[in-house]
Amino acid sequence: MSLLINDLKKTYRQGQESLTILSHLNLEVKTSEIVAVVGASGSGKSTFLSLVAGLDYFDDGDIVINNQSIKKLNRVQMTHFRAQNIGFVFQQFHLVSHLTAYENLCLPLEILDRDFNKEEILTALDNVGLAHRVTHKPTEMSGGECQRLALARGLIARPSLLLADEPSGNLDSETGAKVMNLFFEQVRSTKTTTVLVTHDMELAKRCDRLVVLKNGNFDQSLA
Ligand code: ADP
Ligand code: MG
Repeated sequence: MSLLINDLKKTYRQGQESLTILSHLNLEVKTSEIVAVVGASGSGKSTFLSLVAGLDYFDDGDIVINNQSIKKLNRVQMTHFRAQNIGFVFQQFHLVSHLTAYENLCLPLEILDRDFNKEEILTALDNVGLAHRVTHKPTEMSGGECQRLALARGLIARPSLLLADEPSGNLDSETGAKVMNLFFEQVRSTKTTTVLVTHDMELAKRCDRLVVLKNGNFDQSLA
């Protein structure tokens, strides 16, 4: 088991108002499994991912990643745990704009103080078809190239869990399809446990399993 969501509850508070987005949410994702979370806009998909990433607090329940309950971690421990264990790919690529493609890939490893060599980074770039973009900065790359770089960055530290939030949402359909082909190829070949948030049912069906987020809960069905 790689990810366990146990009776999770999340409420946003604004003054006197409180809005329960997730309640009694349960999910188990096995090692190397790719699970799609689908749901209408505003159903709480991004909220869910931010909780799994430990970027926001939840009210009740628990999230266990690789047998570690994340609510037992303080902020500093969570930051370290996240860097060690979780990779991200977002709709907006979140690359560092003043760094080259090569440097963007080094960054997660430098933060972890891990040993790495040039070959490893070049191979990772090659794996996502960016062997010819080593010294380019994100501003000098197309949307599809940026997202392929973001995918490589998400996987470079060999995370136990990859979280992807509408990774093709900002791309035209043809580019998006190519990026997602690469996405599946990469997560399957690296056997990375993955949660893919998408509103695209066709993409969701390519995952091992899909769950539908509706009224704060998962309606679990077989893909
Ligand atoms: P999705 O990603 O499925 O489109 P979100 O998780 O972004 O949905 O948002 C779910 C709901 O929570 C929405 O109604 C949104 O307005 C609300 N919401 C999101 N973030 C906040 C916040 N920081 N404070 C209050 N409400 C929020
Ligand atoms: Mg969202």
